[in-house]
Amino acid sequence: MEWHNSLAFAQDQDINDEFAAFREEFLFPQNNGKDVIYLCGNSLGLQPKAVVEEITKQLSSWQQLGVEGWFNGSDPWLQYHRKLAAPIANIVGAKDSEVTVMSSLTVNLHLLLVSFYKPAKKKYKILMEGGAFPSDQYAIESQVRFHGFDPEDAIIEVFPPEGEYTLRTEDIVAAIEANADDLALVLFSGINYYTGQFFDIETITQAAHERGIPAGFDLAHAVGNVNLKLHDWNVDFACWCSYKYMNSGPGGISGIFVHEQHHRDSTLNRFAGWWGYKLNERFKMTQGFVPEAGAEGWQVSTSPILLMASLHASLQLFERAGSVAKLRQKADRLTAYLEYLINGINKDLGTEQYKIITPAQQSARGSQLSIICKSNGKKIFDKLLDQGVIGDWREPDVIRLAPVPLYNTFTDVYHAAEIMKEAASATA
Ligand SMILES: *Cc1c(COP(=O)(O)O)cnc(C)c1O
Repeated sequence: MEWHNSLAFAQDQDINDEFAAFREEFLFPQNNGKDVIYLCGNSLGLQPKAVVEEITKQLSSWQQLGVEGWFNGSDPWLQYHRKLAAPIANIVGAKDSEVTVMSSLTVNLHLLLVSFYKPAKKKYKILMEGGAFPSDQYAIESQVRFHGFDPEDAIIEVFPPEGEYTLRTEDIVAAIEANADDLALVLFSGINYYTGQFFDIETITQAAHERGIPAGFDLAHAVGNVNLKLHDWNVDFACWCSYKYMNSGPGGISGIFVHEQHHRDSTLNRFAGWWGYKLNERFKMTQGFVPEAGAEGWQVSTSPILLMASLHASLQLFERAGSVAKLRQKADRLTAYLEYLINGINKDLGTEQYKIITPAQQSARGSQLSIICKSNGKKIFDKLLDQGVIGDWREPDVIRLAPVPLYNTFTDVYHAAEIMKEAASATA
């Protein structure tokens, strides 16, 4: 693809964008009476206009039916989560029975670790990426301690080679091989939040399985962003939040994936609750936990219907778009255009002000570029905010920008880069 650094070129790309109409389905924060350039969908996706309607529907059911809303009305709440399973399965590449929605991400990570981290006396270690999202680090440290091990010893982190920012798949595989006798679990993110690196989930899973080790993934930055095939890749379990690329709103409900091959495994521990009990016998309220088949059997508590309604609004947009693979065709171009423009700033200014640390290889990234600012990073970031460009700032020197195919345009990306350039000159 030949890119051009001009507004006319960007506008032309937008005219030919088959997803252009989706932008109208979202609400944009305002800056000086104009829509902001929102490049922060990796942190909190924008609000779909339909959210109000979907939540209002459920508020009406509550108003009109009270407790009967669980069983009656247009969408009985008892089954409400099942409406969400098919569109989510489509997004993560799973069978409907392998996914469900429940609780929040870190809580679900704990619940899945209860099932899939089964340390033995000699085989108790967890291999993970160095620099994982802090919540995941805390969850894993506390799980390891809970089982009586020392995190210093029981957690093995894989880091990039000296002088590099991202991991090499062969290093991850080599670390799995080197530690195979000690490992009880391999746990990675799908996309590292800091660098935007999309890990080779299939290869990592296969390397773990060849040595009899289960592999789980935190897909917070991957779901609704990159193409996933969790079932075919034989991933054992995964979880994610839905408020980033999936636009379900702050603290939106989380999702989980449990591979079909584990559905009948009665040796797996669970921290159970009544919402995981077989649905058609749940209200017999008998002793002794009998799980619902599939991922639903991991549910614990009463469905938060209003959160599910919000996610439902967003999922309908993904359904309309067709598939994440289709969205990626635009997303890859949008991200590549941003990359081209940012690298162009360095050339124009004759500096090395911006260094993109996200992999240049398309298959190793989603819709995020992490950009190290050589100097004055925070000042540049504040200037962006001032000018109505919302990205996000990670200490000590990284600006993350995420052009999202459902609501960002090439014109957005063009203007953001122009402002990045101005900011670099002004703070130089
Ligand atoms: C966003 C994110 C979280 C946040 O977890 P919550 O429980 O929803 O607060 C956790 N892990 C990763 C990798 C994330 O990107």
